[in-house]
Amino acid sequence: MENLLLVDMDKCTGCKQCSLACSLTKEDLFDPARGRIKILKKEDIALGVPLVCEQCETHPCVESCQNNALSRDDATGIITVDDNLCTSQGTCVDACIYYAIRLHPESKKPMFCDLCGGDPYCAKHCVPEAITWVENTDDVLKTKKKLRSARMAMYRDLKKEAV
Ligand code: SF4
Repeated sequence: MENLLLVDMDKCTGCKQCSLACSLTKEDLFDPARGRIKILKKEDIALGVPLVCEQCETHPCVESCQNNALSRDDATGIITVDDNLCTSQGTCVDACIYYAIRLHPESKKPMFCDLCGGDPYCAKHCVPEAITWVENTDDVLKTKKKLRSARMAMYRDLKKEAV
């Protein structure tokens, strides 16, 4: 893929415009619960932790599905759900190492970012540019991995705090 989604938690205010924009473009509704991007909010310091499919090489979600309902496009990394095979058990939700998957509030099928076919709507609506759609270079890829590690660490800390 020529571009990638770069997510910088340090710029995220947790406003959820990205989730709203996502649900609007996917379902014609303003509902962050239907967004393919999740925002975990730390209210006291107005920090948001964006979680979204990373189109990762390891794709444990695909392997975890005993019904073979998930498939991955090798060129783009985008995951597709076969609704006829999916039984909404949520094993993919638990398997995702980036905490990016959740089930749709009505259909109960997992939702995956499809990068809007190469022009992600979320990136266009993130005012502080915490999400950007940028050219994929070796340096940008290194930055993406570094930023992702920081987000995962923060996510785990916030979850621990919440227990
Ligand atoms: S739109 Fe940007 S700042 Fe707002 S929650 Fe999403 S990533 Fe964070």
